[in-house]
Amino acid sequence: MSGKTKPALVIAASVNAGASARTAVEQSLVRAESDTLNAIIRVHRARALAAADAVDARVRAGERLPLAGVPIALKDNLCLTGAEVGCCSRILTGFISPYTATAVERLERAGAVVVATTNMDEFAMGSSNETSCHGPVRNPRDPSRIPGGSSGGSAASVAAGIVPIALGSDTGGSIRQPASLCGAVGMKPSYGAVSRFGLIAFGSSLDQIGPFATSTADAAAALAVMAGQDANDSTSSPRTWSGLTDLGEAATALRGVRVGVIEEHLAGLTPGVRARLDAAKSALTAAGATLVPVSLPHERHSVAVYYVIATGEASSNLARFDGLRFGPRVDQPKSLHDLYARNRATGFGPEVRRRILLGTYVLSTGYYDAYYKKAQQVRNLICQDYTTAFAACDVILGPVSPTTAFKAGEKLSDPLQMYLSDIFTIAANLAGVPAISVPFGTDEQGLPVGLQLQTAINQDARLLKIAAGLEALAR
Ligand code: GLN
Repeated sequence: MSGKTKPALVIAASVNAGASARTAVEQSLVRAESDTLNAIIRVHRARALAAADAVDARVRAGERLPLAGVPIALKDNLCLTGAEVGCCSRILTGFISPYTATAVERLERAGAVVVATTNMDEFAMGSSNETSCHGPVRNPRDPSRIPGGSSGGSAASVAAGIVPIALGSDTGGSIRQPASLCGAVGMKPSYGAVSRFGLIAFGSSLDQIGPFATSTADAAAALAVMAGQDANDSTSSPRTWSGLTDLGEAATALRGVRVGVIEEHLAGLTPGVRARLDAAKSALTAAGATLVPVSLPHERHSVAVYYVIATGEASSNLARFDGLRFGPRVDQPKSLHDLYARNRATGFGPEVRRRILLGTYVLSTGYYDAYYKKAQQVRNLICQDYTTAFAACDVILGPVSPTTAFKAGEKLSDPLQMYLSDIFTIAANLAGVPAISVPFGTDEQGLPVGLQLQTAINQDARLLKIAAGLEALAR
């Protein structure tokens, strides 16, 4: 048995020193092939071994690579040349990607090796990874519970030790919430930090790719490789991202840091999550940070605003999937319209259909101003709240999710309850600020609790440094 993965930076250091990338990758492939959580939906064995051999050849030729031989897994919405990419939806069955996402290409160039594709909620719509056409993912800490979503397979595969790094996408919390519920580090970078080229779009003004890892140092290493402008994504930021891996000394990282805490955040937390948040506040103070009360008065509207903006953008992004060249093309259509209608009704699952209907409604003539435009106005107020808050503090500390991992099936019949799982994560997407979930112990049932740190936009390096400090306090 190949056990659990070593940290990415440990693997990279040993491969750069002459250990075999092929061996590290083979061990990860075996773990991926014996996954019992339904976290992995595809294993890229031949491709991965060829890539590992190429890394070994580069190292032998004298190159030193930041992620040499590091096995990684990709959420099923990230394109990979020659591989099937499906967003865990029937509508994309049989689609083979002709190109690789920029973020993935950069990781590969840095020596990382894609070993597997991970399960996800269909089109990244969900908070429990129960809407996938490949079936639900189980939480590695307790298989009767959900791993969170929508990047549940990526979170579970890192928390279970299959791979040291997996990629997810975060539109309203889909990296941070499953990271919190599985006990992994998960980061949503600033909007524009990582190119979205090759990420199958959900809500284009909200989507960001980010890493899952077992430590902030590994997450930082992955982000440092991925971040940076890309000619193929006009929303990627032209700034240079320096210092992302410069985490400094955890013992001194928190001295003098002004940590914003939001009183409104405390309502609705389960006692277990609340206890960990309180413990973090005491530990941060003892480490030399100052707690500052701040407020995001419009954050309470964030779920409503999100379900207008995200569904509107999704209805437009998903309009291209017609089920003709791939997906479930139906027989004997009565007309072209009938062909599209029945292909889409068969190809999309119920949650995706609900979102497309909502989104089409809010964008339609006569309703656009009342819903979409109004939501954009409230989004602006949320952005202004952040600006005010970050004038008083360096970082905002809060919960990621109001609860720990819930039981499979528990919220499936109540979409509103499911949507409320993201109450603390959505505002960061609306404002574009970076946010990270750092594991901070467990609740009374032994289930992982992640805490969220957020900084002002483009302060990703500072966020990672403070997160590394918080991580050290959790030990
Ligand atoms: N859970 C949220 C939703 O269902 C967020 C999803 C995401 O971030 N991709 O839309």
